[in-house]
Amino acid sequence: MSGIILESIFLKRSQQKKKTSPLNFKKRLFVLTETKLSYFEYDFERGRRGSKKGSVDIDRITFVEKVIPEQAPPPERQMPQRSDEDETGQLSKIERFPYPFQVVYDEGPLYVFAPTEELRRRWIHQLKNVITSKNDVMRKYHPKFWIDGQYLCCAQTSKNAMGCQILTSSNGSIKPVRSRRMSKKPLPPTPTEEKKTSRPLPPEPPVQEEMKKVVALYGYTPMNANDLPLQKGEEYLILEEGNQAWWRARDKNGQEGYIPNNYVTEARDPLEMYEWYSKNMTRSQAEQLLKGEDKEGGFIVRESSKAGKYTVSVYAKSTAEPQGLTRHYVVCQTSQGQCYLAEKHLFDTIPEMITYHQHNSAGLISRLKYPVSSKKKNAPSTAGLGYGSWEIDHKDLTFLKELGSGQFGVVQYGKWRGQYDVAIKMIREGSMSEDEFIEEAKVMMNLSHENLVQLYGVCTKERPIFIITEYMSNGCLLNYLQESRRRFSANELLEMCRDICAAMAYLESNQFLHRDLAARNCLVNENGIVKVADFGLSRYVLDDEYTSSLGAKFPIRWSPPEVLLFSKFSSKSDVWSFGILMWEIFTLGKMPYDRFNNSEVMDHITKGLRLYRPQMATENIYAIMYSCWHDKPDERPSFLMLHNHIMDQIDE
Ligand code: ADP
Repeated sequence: MSGIILESIFLKRSQQKKKTSPLNFKKRLFVLTETKLSYFEYDFERGRRGSKKGSVDIDRITFVEKVIPEQAPPPERQMPQRSDEDETGQLSKIERFPYPFQVVYDEGPLYVFAPTEELRRRWIHQLKNVITSKNDVMRKYHPKFWIDGQYLCCAQTSKNAMGCQILTSSNGSIKPVRSRRMSKKPLPPTPTEEKKTSRPLPPEPPVQEEMKKVVALYGYTPMNANDLPLQKGEEYLILEEGNQAWWRARDKNGQEGYIPNNYVTEARDPLEMYEWYSKNMTRSQAEQLLKGEDKEGGFIVRESSKAGKYTVSVYAKSTAEPQGLTRHYVVCQTSQGQCYLAEKHLFDTIPEMITYHQHNSAGLISRLKYPVSSKKKNAPSTAGLGYGSWEIDHKDLTFLKELGSGQFGVVQYGKWRGQYDVAIKMIREGSMSEDEFIEEAKVMMNLSHENLVQLYGVCTKERPIFIITEYMSNGCLLNYLQESRRRFSANELLEMCRDICAAMAYLESNQFLHRDLAARNCLVNENGIVKVADFGLSRYVLDDEYTSSLGAKFPIRWSPPEVLLFSKFSSKSDVWSFGILMWEIFTLGKMPYDRFNNSEVMDHITKGLRLYRPQMATENIYAIMYSCWHDKPDERPSFLMLHNHIMDQIDE
């Protein structure tokens, strides 16, 4: 199938086309393209798509939105509880899909359940992107399920009855129609029913605008006149989300300007502001960090990636465990939405719960004495040095050190305006089709992800031109793997793969191809985080040895058959390269097919032979990299799918 935008395994509810047809829930592989939303059986043993079970044409979809969860769902549609942990603190293996959303089309709603909030957000966002361009966005919707012949929100009994809450078209935020929402009785008739009954509709109550509020996670000093300063912890109103990476906002004094959207969080999830919160930390990372700090009562609150739940990891020493021990406590929730770590003490919010346990151990191995932070909470990179600035002034750059040189020439470490670390690629004249690149740079600047080396801008007013990017102090991943004196655990190697895969899933969802993914094109920052660099740059190289698949510098060992034979690039050719990159990581930087020359490599892969299993890779990990090397591109998994598979192997 071509043009896949997203692909995920979700739970699908049967559509109850007849009132009496039974309700059931089946795991299906959902695939979104520009024209269709389809769902398939999925063969979990072989990790393959099975037969198609249904599809909806995008043209028929009127809107997509979250659904308010059921009252008492069975375990697979619930958030995990503390009782789901075994003695080792591991969550039980029940797969959960606690995040429902609805895709409404002319036959009514299709209910789909996602395993994580992030995935649901991503799907709703992408679906809205494909449908809003073609369809009228429906203005009203049903926030609750259609079940056994009626909507739970308003008790209307026609499946096509008009919604009972208003939906805004821009970002889908919901404005309740207050007087109706509380009513237990069926709603007044919808306009179509009205014709039959000819009763007048009551006047619609005025709807109040609800604007998105965010809280600043970091302070931000404006880099140009368009920007608005941010103060950590302050609230801001979002006026416009037009640009992917910069939002127009208003502060409490009424001042307006652009802010980097990765510096703020939606006001209803302000945990990220706390020093003790490390959203994406895994169990093993938490253990390593707490052990490294070696402080009695050191603690971290983290989000479990599988469950959408929080865990508190606490470190303590005792006479029995003088070398220190980490315990992990899942934050439990009561049905009233209160949270607790130890049964008797209930709290309305996690920060209140943490404050309490900072003073009382109350059942924990230690009271929470020292918040341990994943890293110094460095502010993330912004997509450009200020809103709308992509041309950088030469005079604002100071050159400090040569970092290395590559295809385009020398790369230097330097400062922008004496303060911000940057890497400066000085483009040797004649090595790049500059005008084309400069045009594309405007698009690339808007690509912003925590695992992509951020492009900050370009200096094009003088020659040579410079490309300014985020600075990564640990240099290129290939050297980092080969030269590190530290022994990496298999879990750490897997975390590197996860980081890269997350960036690639982001590029895939933006339909942007890397075309030269390899360990030499990834970089490592001061915290050991791996990021993908040089995405899309190969298109602007002026060097036949590099661009022709017969050239000596062409990345033959990272390329699938269809690229070598027909120069057919796609996100599935990036997937092949990703498999090779996983192999590089698990061999600590070996050259793929090192016993063969380039033409032997071609022979080898066209005969169907593949790289061997690296010693550090388990069978499961090898199966993941191997799945990237299917000779048919469509049979290779998407990056989103690979990310799920990798997450499943990470020891949390
Ligand atoms: P090119 O794109 O011209 O081939 P590379 O990206 O390979 O150049 O860069 C050459 C070397 O410079 C890399 O191997 C790496 O050591 C260093 N380098 C490049 N970009 C950065 C960066 N953003 N931060 C730190 N070091 C970098």
